[in-house]
Amino acid sequence: MSFDDPIAALATYASHPSVSADPSYAEGMVAAREHVTRLLGDLGFAVEVIETPMHPILLATRGDPTWPHLIIYGHYDVQPADPFDLWTTPPFEPVVRGGRLYGRGVADNKGPQIVHMTALARVLAKNPELPLRITYLIEGEEEVGSPSFKGFLEQYKDRLDAEMVLVSDTGSPNPEQIVITTGLRGLVALEARFKGPRMDLHSGVHGGPVFNPLRAVSEVCASLHDDQGNVNVPGFYDDVSEPADWERKELLKMPQTEEDYLDFIGSPAFKSSPRYNALESVRFGPTLEFNGIGGGYQGKGSKTVIPSESFVKITCRLVPNQSEEKIAALVKAAISDRCPEEVTVDVEVTGGGDPYVVIPPGKPGSRGDEPELLKRAFDATERAIEESFGVSPIYMREGGSIPIIGDLKQVAGLDSLLVGLFTPADNLHAPDESFHLGIMEKATTAFEAIFKKLSGSS
Ligand SMILES: [Zn+2]
Repeated sequence: MSFDDPIAALATYASHPSVSADPSYAEGMVAAREHVTRLLGDLGFAVEVIETPMHPILLATRGDPTWPHLIIYGHYDVQPADPFDLWTTPPFEPVVRGGRLYGRGVADNKGPQIVHMTALARVLAKNPELPLRITYLIEGEEEVGSPSFKGFLEQYKDRLDAEMVLVSDTGSPNPEQIVITTGLRGLVALEARFKGPRMDLHSGVHGGPVFNPLRAVSEVCASLHDDQGNVNVPGFYDDVSEPADWERKELLKMPQTEEDYLDFIGSPAFKSSPRYNALESVRFGPTLEFNGIGGGYQGKGSKTVIPSESFVKITCRLVPNQSEEKIAALVKAAISDRCPEEVTVDVEVTGGGDPYVVIPPGKPGSRGDEPELLKRAFDATERAIEESFGVSPIYMREGGSIPIIGDLKQVAGLDSLLVGLFTPADNLHAPDESFHLGIMEKATTAFEAIFKKLSGSS
């Protein structure tokens, strides 16, 4: 059986180079997909390969329509492995070293998938008729932004009449302390282009009367924060819902202080809105960041030029209950209003997603009308992690964004239980990615208990 040796199952899975961003890895994508199809088939799932404009999504099901229905999400694609020469051993030839399995994709996200599947295999071996309906959604475009996923959800909505989603594609601070992620920030991406003279001009012949587009972009950007560190866009904070007291307290359990964090970043000091300390700010606060500013001469030495245009790329991270569309409109208006009249500006919204939060059932601020399976899942997970790892999980919002979690909520009305199984030491998206075998073993034991509880057996 494939799951008697889970490390070998993971090593084989990770040996298929499924790099979704690079078309030269098309064969690796097929091989990884076929590998998961086989694994799910061994577990008794009926697997369908759903075509998309890019990489197919695997939709696999087991169980009776009358049973409680759980969706498990994962992705079979991985990040590119470059630069190859920084890997200690080749990225697609997984090997165990010092209690870790090394290889591209072993932590993000193939390892966590093997954890779920191995746990399920063990539960099903003892109880093949386990009364839990499970739908697996394993996509191949996560590392390129999941462009086909939302359309897929809309098209297959009637197959997704579940009570919740289980995802292990988030992080925990270290192998001893598991985090259950309860919120993700949303995103708005914009690009503003400032235009002045028709063409680049000689700064001696024309310097003086011409308003330089680089000055325009600088003045507008400088206006977008106030002296205290708040985002200076009218209405920006209007819909922000502040975290509950228990969430701020939960943060104190994290094994990291503001000083550790500053030390890790290496900046001389932090500056965040006075509403939040630095550790709160990355989880509970909304932001406006400049990701790139440009225009004019960027080469060596000097060039006496007044550039014809300049640009800035901006992203905002959003928190509950801010809306992607509303914030995009506010920022766009602020930039247009503040653009000096001697130049023109064109602001384009290039992407985004709404924030997501799930307050654990029973905690202050929770909905109260959560589906039975979701309640059972949070309860079972807290106990199983406690038992298997010896420490209770921490409930924590994360600063990043996973658009598919918001899509599942928006399209199918589903909340997600996000159990973090990778850690910073796993080097996600970087050379020498690895998966901690201790986490793998303990988490597998925990998920065995979780699947049993979800089916109503103990
Ligand atoms: Zn991932």
